Amino acid sequence: MKKKQSYTIRIMIRLCLLIILFMQSTPLISHGVNQASAQPTTWEDRLYLYQQISQVFQLPWSYLAAIDQFERTMRKPDELQKSAGFVAIQFPAHLWSGILNPNPNDTNPGTIGFYTGIGRDGSGDEIADPNDDVDLLYTMASYLSQYGWMKDDFRLALWRYYQNEKIVEIITEFAVIYDKYQRLDLFDNQFPIPAHFNYSYKNTWGAPRGWGGRRIHEGTDIFAGYGTPIRSTCYGYVESMGWNRFGGWRIGVRDLNNHYHYFAHLSGFNKEIKEGQIVEPGEILGYVGSSGYGKPGTQGKFPPHLHYGIYKYTMKGEWSFDPYPHLRKWERQMFQKKKR
Ligand SMILES: [Zn+2]
Repeated sequence: MKKKQSYTIRIMIRLCLLIILFMQSTPLISHGVNQASAQPTTWEDRLYLYQQISQVFQLPWSYLAAIDQFERTMRKPDELQKSAGFVAIQFPAHLWSGILNPNPNDTNPGTIGFYTGIGRDGSGDEIADPNDDVDLLYTMASYLSQYGWMKDDFRLALWRYYQNEKIVEIITEFAVIYDKYQRLDLFDNQFPIPAHFNYSYKNTWGAPRGWGGRRIHEGTDIFAGYGTPIRSTCYGYVESMGWNRFGGWRIGVRDLNNHYHYFAHLSGFNKEIKEGQIVEPGEILGYVGSSGYGKPGTQGKFPPHLHYGIYKYTMKGEWSFDPYPHLRKWERQMFQKKKR
């Protein structure tokens, strides 16, 4: 990509964009208000906005989408529903207006600039509004563009902003997922065992377990024969793969809800899949086994089964929640599809 595009062209693109955004601003806002749904706009509307604003700064749109989606997973659903637009990015007031700005709620682009605040007016109404979707994305894109458009530039910008290595990792993973599919609606799920294989499971959440000290059972065990295929339950990024003392041969996939899907005790992996790769619902990850509870290669200490868990990332760490209701739902959907 050529970094040095002529100044005139950039200004013209910006002007065109402002006109387009201005013409669009009414429907965008009216879509956004008073909607019970967590998706007040269509996927196409969102994608269009990410793309338009990224173009102004010559950034990949996946960067903006990834940051926005990460922020969405960090906020409470009721809080998201109350906000006027769909963008979940929030800037601390002092960062938006400038640390020395006597008015922390300043929306005047002139004084914000004077106090070196980050807040920008992207919608062309002369107001840098921290509750306006366009201004928020425009401000984030403007911040990112100071670092450059390459992957390493993006990582550095994220590190400076969040000061947290795990968050940098998750957001760059999201960006890779968006880059691959070039769309935003990537939330489909799939039951991990194909319908025509024998399997059984029940709700074992929180049950005590025997090995490795006082731990409770964080997941659901799906019993099936050795070699039964295990499929990805989601679109996601393969964050870890290999041996782990408890899980044996295991694979962990992070989806765009910031859920880490954990598949353990495998007998082997799908050879096509590597760490750092993107997988999709139904794609075979590996095969049921009884590995784990010891040093690498240990197996047969319990009947073969898939241990499946879901962990949600929070600022305080990864928290497991009960996957059983999800499994039941995905299983129902699998058999409904089969009947049709
Ligand atoms: Zn288990």
